[in-house]
Amino acid sequence: MALRPDRRAVLAGLASLAAMPSLAAGKPARVVVVGGGYGGATAARFIHRLAPEIKVTLVEPATTFTACPLSNLVIAGARDLAAQQFGYQTLIREGIEIVHDRAVDVDASARTVALAGGATLPYDRLVLSPGIDVDWGVLEGYDRGAAEIMPHAWKAGEQTLLLRRQLAAMKDGGLVVISVPRAPFRCPPGPYERASLIAHYLSLRKPRSKVLILDANERFSKQALFQAEWAARYGDLMEWRGPSDGGRVVRVDPGAMTLETDFEEIRADVANVIPPQKAGEIAARAGVADATGWCPIDAVTFQSVLQPHIHVIGDATIAAPMPKSAFAANLQAKVCAIQLVRLLRGMDPEPSVLVNTCYSYVSPDAAISISGVYGNEGGVLKDVPGAGGVSPAAPDPLGREREAAQASDWFRAINRETFG
Ligand code: FAD
Repeated sequence: MALRPDRRAVLAGLASLAAMPSLAAGKPARVVVVGGGYGGATAARFIHRLAPEIKVTLVEPATTFTACPLSNLVIAGARDLAAQQFGYQTLIREGIEIVHDRAVDVDASARTVALAGGATLPYDRLVLSPGIDVDWGVLEGYDRGAAEIMPHAWKAGEQTLLLRRQLAAMKDGGLVVISVPRAPFRCPPGPYERASLIAHYLSLRKPRSKVLILDANERFSKQALFQAEWAARYGDLMEWRGPSDGGRVVRVDPGAMTLETDFEEIRADVANVIPPQKAGEIAARAGVADATGWCPIDAVTFQSVLQPHIHVIGDATIAAPMPKSAFAANLQAKVCAIQLVRLLRGMDPEPSVLVNTCYSYVSPDAAISISGVYGNEGGVLKDVPGAGGVSPAAPDPLGREREAAQASDWFRAINRETFG
């Protein structure tokens, strides 16, 4: 069986580590990982697996993680939220210390993390994988109160269920508006997958309704495939407007249920406002986020270029052309684990080739995908020309169904690798 390139790169890294001596005897090195999602939980497991002598502490406030991938199926009533939830029992059994608390500050010179509960954790190396936070206040009118009326559902959980309830309660003939912020944001194809699945739900239950996507971006991920699928499956039920057609939302009014674009004011029955985002707040506290709100990294080691001894992985990073995806966070975590252990063992880091695949459902039983391969040029990720691509425009009759099955297998595999 041919190994996927990400497996090959990671296995090569593991082999080179196995050949090296373990860390010096004496005081064990301490690694603190902040964030128990796809990046952080994977990093904690792989660091522990590569170098059991390192004391790994994972800081995560939640005792149950709720996954975003496939959560658009929950919104469309095709999946239960419980199928999205994972605990940390396997990590605890494996010997990783888990502290259910929130990191509130990092002192990069003292190398300590302060927790909301009052404890302070010292570290030799810190891995931050806090995901995203909403950049409140950037979109006029959208604050925490507004998100209870116009849910973003861009962090899975209560927000996902709120949007699902609103769709279920909406009258037939209603208008669902999805507003998409300017890139970069978590999961580039996510808004369009969501629009597809909501359209599917409405086509069955409320066929006189409409989905309108108001987009601040002129182009989007898998655009030609999505638009062909929408035309074939949902027809007039779906409309997409880019910024040159008045798609950029500049202000929302949750009281009036209106979204204002450059050209007009639109009243929605259900408004899913995907807001501007930034790296999880702790990144700014640690001094690893720049003026963009995201974290520049050396893509060989995933070390911050702004603070020593701190690695950043996952959505919080500036890793384009690699997207902000669970696939990417999980692979970056493995690469980061290998390089972090090499550094602690006094070895030079080694560049890796990274990959990403994002599946998107266009209906509950059909999906399309995009893959990318990324080389390392002096610590910066670059597309490998000619590698990767998207699903065929005209697949064989069961092609989309096969990709939906692959998406569900991928979800099972990534969760097994992240949470056990
Ligand atoms: P997360 O997985 O969000 O983990 C961050 C963790 O950090 C959280 O558990 C949080 O509680 C914790 N945390 C934050 N701040 C602190 C702090 N101060 N102290 C302690 N802990 C903290 N990706 C795919 O690959 N495929 C898909 O099909 C896909 N579909 C998606 C669909 C939707 C609707 C959305 C919104 C996203 C989707 N994604 C998908 C993207 C994916 O969910 C993210 O890219 C991924 O979760 C990023 O991993 P992360 O570790 O960076 O962040």
